[in-house]
Amino acid sequence: MIWDRIIMVDWSGGAAKSKTPQSDAIWIGEARGGASMEPIYVPDREAALGTLTNMLAERPAGERILLGFDFPFAFPAGFAARLTGQDDPRAVWSWFDARISDLKDGRDRIDAAAEANDLFEGDGPFWFNPFERTRPHPSIPARGMKTRPLPEHRSVEDSASGALSAWRLGGVGAPGSQALMGFPVLLRLKERFGADLSFWPFDGADTPIVVAEVFPSLIAPCIEAHRAPDPRQKDGKEIKDRAQVRILAHALAALSEAEMARLFDVPNTPEGWILGTGHADRLAAAFERSQGRPAPTRKRRLPGNCFALPPGVDWTLVDDALAMLRDRLEPIAETQRGLPEAGRRLAREAVAERSNPPRANAAVDGYAIKGALTQEETTFPLAEGKAAAGVPFDGPLPGGHALRILTGAFLPDGADTVILQEDADVAGGRVTLIGPQKAGANRRRAGEDFNIGDTILEAGRTLTAADLGLLAAAGVREVETYRPLRVGVLSTGDEISDAPSADQIPDANRPMLIAAIAAMGHEAVDLGICGDDRDALRAAFDGADTDVLLTSGGASAGEEDHVSALLTETGTMALWRVAVKPGRPLALGLWDGMPVFGLPGNPVAALVCTMIFARPALSLLAGGGWVAPLGVTVPAAFRKSKKAGRREYLRARLRDGAAEVFASEGSGRISGLSWAEGLVELPDGALEVTPGTPVTYLPFAGLLR
Ligand code: AMP
Ligand code: MG
Repeated sequence: MIWDRIIMVDWSGGAAKSKTPQSDAIWIGEARGGASMEPIYVPDREAALGTLTNMLAERPAGERILLGFDFPFAFPAGFAARLTGQDDPRAVWSWFDARISDLKDGRDRIDAAAEANDLFEGDGPFWFNPFERTRPHPSIPARGMKTRPLPEHRSVEDSASGALSAWRLGGVGAPGSQALMGFPVLLRLKERFGADLSFWPFDGADTPIVVAEVFPSLIAPCIEAHRAPDPRQKDGKEIKDRAQVRILAHALAALSEAEMARLFDVPNTPEGWILGTGHADRLAAAFERSQGRPAPTRKRRLPGNCFALPPGVDWTLVDDALAMLRDRLEPIAETQRGLPEAGRRLAREAVAERSNPPRANAAVDGYAIKGALTQEETTFPLAEGKAAAGVPFDGPLPGGHALRILTGAFLPDGADTVILQEDADVAGGRVTLIGPQKAGANRRRAGEDFNIGDTILEAGRTLTAADLGLLAAAGVREVETYRPLRVGVLSTGDEISDAPSADQIPDANRPMLIAAIAAMGHEAVDLGICGDDRDALRAAFDGADTDVLLTSGGASAGEEDHVSALLTETGTMALWRVAVKPGRPLALGLWDGMPVFGLPGNPVAALVCTMIFARPALSLLAGGGWVAPLGVTVPAAFRKSKKAGRREYLRARLRDGAAEVFASEGSGRISGLSWAEGLVELPDGALEVTPGTPVTYLPFAGLLR
């Protein structure tokens, strides 16, 4: 089952959006022959229907197209029959289609949902009216509902982590609104393409055009990791909806035929299915593969040109510099198998070797029975013996009996419900239990936390204390991790000394950078100080038994800038003039295959460049993936008139919820670094900051880890 084109649509249930590409509108992504096309932005549903109709109508004879929409195609079992007298979800589509008059506006979807709710007892099933104020519908509850007429989720949603309920009409995602405004589009496409188009899984998948429900969040970490840089966006990254359709289409296109067949191998029930559920790892791995970046390898050498700048580039914007590092670096640390250790980075995903819990067990102390309690009081004969954690009951529960059971004890065969001991009265070999109580109450289901074979931790994960608990619970004794990256720290300059004479100054960078490297989870190697002397520097580089080298000083293009001169000699050096303050020159090169980060000598610039540029690069090299700093938007407590042209990082700290900055911006002022608890990041463009202006604050806590 191979597709010529894969088209993925990020749908929207809300009002039409402006012509400028933005999130929460409609995005259409396409992959064709293994390449992904530029995603298309569409401001409203009518336009989307037109665009999709054209895309499908243009297909040459014999071409097969998979078209995915990210809204629920069906509701939990029971709804269709009650609403329409049939189980077929398409009857539900028609029911709503008849009540939605304007595809563009979409306000009457709420009236339609209210009309559907009126057919049911209790609260809902639809809830969360986004127009509560202007269109109150008493039959559409807000939250805090007690009696729900139908289950909240379809069975597929239990396996698709993060999937929201299709009954939800408002708030984040609002799948219900998206669905009601998507059904008319599905029907219009069917009218247009007739027997050439089918809906999976309801019709099978044999026609030239197959339409399926998808959910990009299935591969959320992969999407997040591959959002392209986009300086026009607030967070500097490609609009998420755009990345979602682009990457999901590409990931699907990268599957092998067998893998694709497995995705489609699901039972056909009227509740439908989200294509890809249960195969998130496979999809993410296929995408990585297609990027030529397979799951971490043990390759230790980077290509010789990995730091080369594109021809003609003089100045590099911070985001471009980061994007280049991100695109070109890959893990170089060695891997090893062994006991999991906190702080180590996983080289391979960890897969559960047992389920948690392994068998259904009691969540409370009480009495195990079979099925629900329908009466207020029911008396059972007590089975002989009891079930305790680690001491299971011998044999099945005799029919009609209750059994004393303690928290954590496995439920014997024939028992599925536990009644709290507070609701029990024991007398003469019998127990009277207070109801009503649902079947399955106080029971932990087997595998409800995770199942054997589940991926419990992804490759690249830096193991935490909690992860060690998870691995132990999952029966994973050994994991494959990267050895900590060995990062050499070398200071350069004739004026720098650990025992300075009157003409010299103490080495401030080395202790500072060694501590910063250690805080980032790498192994810092102290390489001492080297004078401004080409041969001495060459000897120091040659003698460094490290994975990476971090030098400070001598990185510019002056005659005493020996680090850049030496790296230039080897032919792999690139002097990156980054549009950043403090910082600017960053000498990047390979020394016999070992990446060298030549930082500026100024302590302030050296630390800022380490945190902003070296940190994510080192994390990638160490196998921990790219790491973005943790930033919060806070009001400024300072004034500054910033010129356009380069990004600025100010030494800052938070006081009373606002960011104050160090009095002097002089980059030799080490006292200001120590005063600061983070950085304020000012964008590349001009900016007039006055007290109250929102600015991005990057706490050191997020930059030095
Ligand atoms: P450079 O990048 O070598 O031109 O150095 C820029 C400034 O930073 C000069 O004032 C140096 O003295 C100072 N500097 C360089 N390395 C260090 C260091 N390890 N500790 C303190 N200051 C330094
Ligand atoms: Mg110097």
